[in-house]
Amino acid sequence: MKQRIVVLGAGYAGMLAALRLAGKARGADITLVNASDQFVERIRLHQRATGQQLRQRPIQALLRGTGVRFVQGRVTDLDLQARAIRVDTLAEPLAYDTLVFALGSRTDLDSVPGARQYATATESPQFRERMAQVAASGGRLLVVGGGLTGIEAAAETAEIYPNVKVTLVTRGKLGSGLSDKAGRYLRQTFGKLGIEVQEYTAVTQVEAGRLHTGAGQPIPFDLCLWTGAFVASPLAQEAGFAINSRGQILVDPYLRSLSHPQVYAVGDAGIPADNSGMNLRMACATAMPMAAHAVDNIAAQLKGRGLKPYDFAYFFQCISLGRQRGLIQLVYADDSPRERVFTGRFGAWFKEMICKYTTIMLKYERRFPGVYPSGPVLAKFGAAPAHANVKGATGSAAARNS
Ligand SMILES: Cc1cc2nc3c(=O)[nH]c(=O)nc-3n(C[C@H](O)[C@H](O)[C@H](O)COP(=O)(O)OP(=O)(O)OC[C@H]3O[C@@H](n4cnc5c(N)ncnc54)[C@H](O)[C@@H]3O)c2cc1C
Repeated sequence: MKQRIVVLGAGYAGMLAALRLAGKARGADITLVNASDQFVERIRLHQRATGQQLRQRPIQALLRGTGVRFVQGRVTDLDLQARAIRVDTLAEPLAYDTLVFALGSRTDLDSVPGARQYATATESPQFRERMAQVAASGGRLLVVGGGLTGIEAAAETAEIYPNVKVTLVTRGKLGSGLSDKAGRYLRQTFGKLGIEVQEYTAVTQVEAGRLHTGAGQPIPFDLCLWTGAFVASPLAQEAGFAINSRGQILVDPYLRSLSHPQVYAVGDAGIPADNSGMNLRMACATAMPMAAHAVDNIAAQLKGRGLKPYDFAYFFQCISLGRQRGLIQLVYADDSPRERVFTGRFGAWFKEMICKYTTIMLKYERRFPGVYPSGPVLAKFGAAPAHANVKGATGSAAARNS
C-alpha cells in the first residue's frame, strides 16, 4: 500500500515540504492542505498592509506537474491516535501514515487585555483600508513591538504615508538584537522618516483609541498595529502535542514531535526541544531549511535509511526600512550580530532579492527536488561566534517578533 503523507499548511515550510516530497518520496501519496488557495508571502505583509499589490500565487500552479493533491480547507481537528485529520471542506477525515505539521504562527493578540478588540495585526485584511482612512485624516498609527516586524511595519508606513504620525512603543530597546552600527543606522533612518520611538515601555492594556502603559499617561492612537510576538497554531495544543509556551511543537533532533514521532513539525510550528543545541527564531529563514531537512529524513525513512539530526546556521537578518532603504545585519551562526552591516539602497535591494529568492526557490524545488539547502548544509558555512563553542545554531536567538 502507498505511504500516505499529509502536509498541513502551505506557507514557506509546508509549500517547500510538499514540493520536495514530490521528488524525494516518489510513489507516496502526498496531500497538501491549506486554508487559502493562494500561497501567501507572509514576509511581505507589511507591504500589503500599506496598500501595495502583492503578486497572486495560486497553490495549484506552484504544484503543477508534481502529483501532489491539494485540498483547500481549514484543518479543524487532529486525531493523533487514529491518525486522522478533519478539514472543514472534506466530508471524511483525511488519513495519514506520516504527517508534516506546518501550520505556522500568527500575531499574539491575547496576552495583553484589549489587544484583540482594539488593535490589529499585519495579517489582518482590514488593516489596509483602516490605514488608508488614517492617512486621509493625517492621524496617528501606534506600532506596538520593537522587533523586526514592528520595525519594518513602522518604516514602511512612515515612508508611504508621510502625513501619518507613526509612533513605535517597545518594552525593551529598539532593535535589541542588532549590532551598535546597525542600531545607529536604524535610529538615523527612523529620524529621517519622522518615527517617534518610546522604548522600555510595557503596554498593559489597549482600549478604544488609547494604550495604557506601565507608567505615564495613556497614549492616544487612531490605529494600533500589534506586532508584539508570534504564537503557533492553537491546533497543536488542542491535538495534545507536547508544546512550549508559544504553542510550538517540541521536536527531537530529527524534527519529529517528541510526543508523537510519526509527526514532523517544521517552520514556526516546531521547535527543537533541546534549547542548548538550537534556539531558532520564528522566521522564514528558519522555516525553509527545517522543512527541507524534515523531508530528507522522511525520504530516508521510506528507503530504510537512518535519520540525520538537525543542524543549522544563520547568516544575516534582512530588514526592510521602506522601499528605499534596507538594513542587512550579518550574524554569526547562532544569530548573534556581527559588526558588519549593509545599509541604504543596497540593503533595500538585497532584502528584495531575499524575498524573491524564497519564491524562486519554491519553483526550483519543483523542477529540481532537493535543490533547497537544508539546515545541516547551511550549518557547514555558518560563522561560529567567538563567545561560544557551537556546531550550527546554538545559544540564544532573538525571536524575529519579540
Ligand atoms: C510582516 C512580516 C514580515 C516578516 N518578515 C520576515 C523576514 O523578512 N524574514 C524572515 O525570515 N521572516 C519574516 N517573517 C516571519 C515569517 O513570515 C514566518 O516566520 C514564516 O512565514 C513561517 O513560515 P511557516 O511556513 O512556518 O508558516 P506560515 O508562513 O505562517 O504558513 C502557515 C500556513 O498554514 C496555513 N494555516 C494555518 N492554520 C491553518 C488551518 N487551521 N487550516 C489550514 N491551513 C492553515 C496558513 O494559512 C499558512 O498558509 C515576517 C512575518 C511578518 C508577519
